[in-house]
Amino acid sequence: MALSGLEIFKLLPKTNCKECGVPTCMAFAMKLAQKKADLGECPHASEEARAALGAASKPPIRLVKIGVGARALEVGNETVMFRHEKTFFHQTGLAIRLNASEDEETLVSKIREIENYTVDRVGEQLKADLLFLSQDEAGKDAFLKLIGFAKEHSTKGVILDSRDRESLTAGLEILKADRPAVFLSGDVSDGDFELAKNRSVSLIITGESFESLESRVEKAKKAGIEDLILNLKAPDLGRQFQNNTILRRSALKKNYEPFGYPLLTMVEAENGPDRMAKASVGLCKYASIIVLPRYDKALLYTLFALRQNIFTDPQKPIQVEPKLYSIGDPTPESPVFLTTNFSLTFFLVSGEIENSGTSAHLVVCDCEGQSVLTAWAAGKFTGETIAKFIREIKLEEQVKTRRLIIPGFVSQISGDLEEKLPGWEILVGCQEAADIPSFVKSVSIA
Ligand code: SF4
Repeated sequence: MALSGLEIFKLLPKTNCKECGVPTCMAFAMKLAQKKADLGECPHASEEARAALGAASKPPIRLVKIGVGARALEVGNETVMFRHEKTFFHQTGLAIRLNASEDEETLVSKIREIENYTVDRVGEQLKADLLFLSQDEAGKDAFLKLIGFAKEHSTKGVILDSRDRESLTAGLEILKADRPAVFLSGDVSDGDFELAKNRSVSLIITGESFESLESRVEKAKKAGIEDLILNLKAPDLGRQFQNNTILRRSALKKNYEPFGYPLLTMVEAENGPDRMAKASVGLCKYASIIVLPRYDKALLYTLFALRQNIFTDPQKPIQVEPKLYSIGDPTPESPVFLTTNFSLTFFLVSGEIENSGTSAHLVVCDCEGQSVLTAWAAGKFTGETIAKFIREIKLEEQVKTRRLIIPGFVSQISGDLEEKLPGWEILVGCQEAADIPSFVKSVSIA
């Protein structure tokens, strides 16, 4: 039975030592109650607490990590079926398949391209997350070479796919410090579990049906393997949609432990539109990892955009870094515009300044990602906050001009701002970003 935050708090040490990463035992208890933390994160929890909390404190979908360092991919730990109920915590990881049977030059060039392919969209850097290295029909040597190339030329996490135990063991030796995952395409054996235990890797368990998946997961759990990812095969798109929904629902609504793991979807379609459809359904419906059959920039770009839209938290505005931006090639005498750090506002304003053909400085204030009028109404875009920010970024040391162009929608703050920024002239700009080019032409702005 689920315990409340207060009931869980009573079982914790109450020392507020912060070692679990939150400031107080009460805050940690609340996270446990919401299944957003694991009791194992408190090193001081007593045996009694562990026994009492047990399954009640476990997140319904286990958090699994592939890779190491800043580029490691974390999947799982989700608590809701729909984003608007709270949020999704970890976005789907995109993996790209590379086959050891391809020639070496092509493999190295693909690995390098995948490593460097980054899309900058609405202030975020979007990229693929994992390499799926398949032995395919190749021999052990070719497989090990592929693993070596990935280690040398990529920082991404790795999934290994081989039916040959000897090749797999040797591959895991190469990646022993890199926390890879191993893909098992069929039945599982004690040998797989031994390998996973000795090397501390995650196992991706495949099932042809709910029953076979469940039985293989139970075997793995009995063998003491907990870092699992589930791959339930589906004959068509409809079944893929249905299967993933049933697995997620079983984990969240029924607390059904055998299905309480992140899901993986293999995209094996022959043609481009089918690949796109299958990957998109996986993204929309609960795949924590999607394995793409090849490196295809057009497919990746589209999936990046879809993924960003699905996994952006609607409760948190998308923001850009608050700082002084250069638009074009400004000199110290170039005009200075002002706006807030709501991504959409920033991209509209900076884009229109660029369209005007003027090089300028753009002061982007920290307004917690709110748009101009919202930030002003919330007291985050006032004469005082703007003047404070301008002093923090040392604007006066970076520009010679002393004229600041503020958004037309907040003309009412111009007097206050002039008072708070002695020596500056405040020029009220246009209301809509689209009018910036004509504003620049009609007014002396520098
Ligand atoms: S680590 Fe344990 S004792 Fe320390 S604050 Fe967190 S819950 Fe409390």
